[in-house]
Amino acid sequence: MRIAVVGAGYVGLVSGACFAELGFETWCIDKDEEKIESLKRGEMPIFEANLEEIVVSNFEQGRLHFTTSMAGGIPQADVVILAVGTPEREDGSVDLDSVFGAGLEVARHLEGTTIIITKSTVPVGTSRSLYRKMREANPVADFETASNPEFLREGEAVMDFMNPDRIVIGVASERSAAILRRLYRPQQLVGVPIEVMSPETAELTKYACNSFLATKVGFINDVSDLCQAVNGDIRQLGRAMGLDSRIGPKFLEPGPGFGGSCFPKDTKGFALMGRDAGAPQKIVEAVIGGNAQRKRELVNHVRAACRGSLADRRVAVLGLTFKPDTNDVRESPALELLPALAAEAAEVRAHDPRGIASIAAVLSIRSIKYCADLWDSLKGADALVILTQWADYRSLDWNLVRNAMRGTVIVDFRNICDPEQVTGCGLDYHGIGVKPAPAKEPAQPSVAAE
Ligand code: NAD
Repeated sequence: MRIAVVGAGYVGLVSGACFAELGFETWCIDKDEEKIESLKRGEMPIFEANLEEIVVSNFEQGRLHFTTSMAGGIPQADVVILAVGTPEREDGSVDLDSVFGAGLEVARHLEGTTIIITKSTVPVGTSRSLYRKMREANPVADFETASNPEFLREGEAVMDFMNPDRIVIGVASERSAAILRRLYRPQQLVGVPIEVMSPETAELTKYACNSFLATKVGFINDVSDLCQAVNGDIRQLGRAMGLDSRIGPKFLEPGPGFGGSCFPKDTKGFALMGRDAGAPQKIVEAVIGGNAQRKRELVNHVRAACRGSLADRRVAVLGLTFKPDTNDVRESPALELLPALAAEAAEVRAHDPRGIASIAAVLSIRSIKYCADLWDSLKGADALVILTQWADYRSLDWNLVRNAMRGTVIVDFRNICDPEQVTGCGLDYHGIGVKPAPAKEPAQPSVAAE
C-alpha cells in the first residue's frame, strides 16, 4: 500500500515518517518549498523526540519521499492523508480553506482507486462535504473519503503514533473500512483497538476528547484558585482526586491556562458546532471563557508576588512553549504574559530550551530580551516566573539562582519546585493553589549579582 500525506507539519510529518518506518512507501507533500528542501537535507522543521532518526533513515532507504508537487505524490497513492492546518477564524469557526483547497488539488491527480483520509481536526460533516467538492472536480475518479482524527500529543508524537490508545476511523463504506484496517494493521497487531464508526461520529469524537481534557484542566485550575483563597493545597487535593479510578490522575495539575494549537481552537470549534446544531455545549463554553481570563490574569499574580508595581523590575520568564518537549508556542501562556509584563514597563528576560526562535518570530517587543542561556535570563532579576515545566527547570540549583538574582520572588505557575528548597535558599516562593512561602534565612550567605 502506498501513501501520500498532504501537509508536512506536526501531524503530517510524524504520520508520514511513522508510516514509512512501518514499511509503507510514503510521499510527504507540502506547499512550503523551504520546508521540503530542509527535510531533504535531513533538517527538521519541528522538534520531536526520535523524529529526525526515522525521517533520515527512511529517506535514505528510499521509502520516504518529500515533494512540493501533487503530481509527484498523488497518482501512485492508494491512501491520501490530509494533514493540513485548520486554524481558527476570528469568530471561532474553523477555517477549512486548506482542507478543501488541498482536496481539490488532490482530486485533479487521482489515478486508480484511492481513499482520501482527513487527519486534520475538522467539524462534523467535513468528510462528506469534501467528497462532494472532490467529486465535482473529478466526476470519473474512483475514490472515497474517510475521517481518521489524530490524537497524538506534541512532545510524544512518534510514540503516540506508533502505539496510540485507540485509532478512530469514520467511514461511509465497508470498502474504506477494510483499507483503513489494512493501513493500521501494524498498530492493531500490538493490541491497539480500532474503533470504526460513521465519519460524523469520528469527527465529533476528536472534538469531544479535546474538549473533555480542556474541561479537566479548567476545572482543576478553578479548584486551585479556591485552594489558594482558603489555604488549601492543590497538590495534595489533586493527588487524592487522581487516585479515584473513576477520575484518574492525568490533567489534574493546575497551570497558567491551556494553550497549543489544539485545545483553544478545538474547544471553540466544538462550542460553535453545538450552538449551530441547537445543542449548546454549556460546560465547554464556560471552560473557554475561564481559560482566556486565566491567561489575562497571569500578570496580576506576578504583580501581587512582587508586592507592587512592575515598572522597571527585571522579570525572568522561564518557558515559552505551551508545553515541554516541543518548540511550539501557538497560543502559549507566554504570548499573553510577556506583552502584559512589557505593558507594565517591566524589563523581561525570557528563556526556553527550544522555543526561542518560534516566539521571536511572532513576538518582538523592545523590552523583551530572549536569552539562549538560562543563567543570562536570571542575572539581576527581581522576580523569576516559571511558565512551562521543562525538565531543565525542575532541578535548578536554588543557591545559584539566589546568587544570580537581585530580588527574591519566585512565581511557579506549574508547581514544579520544592517550596522547602526554594525558601531555604532565601527566596520567596509563590506556587499556585498553595500558600505563598516566605524566604528563610539561607544556609549559606549569598552574594547578589549585578
Ligand atoms: P501545521 O501547521 O504544523 O502543518 C500544516 C502543514 O500543511 C504546513 O506545513 C503547511 O505548509 C501545509 N499545507 C497547508 N496547505 C497545504 C496544501 N494545500 N498543500 C500542501 N501542504 C499544505 O499543522 P499541525 O499542527 O500538523 O495540524 C494539522 C491538523 O492536525 C490540524 O487540523 C490540527 O488541529 C490537527 N491536529 C494537530 C495536533 C498537534 O498536536 N499539532 C494533534 C492532533 C490533530
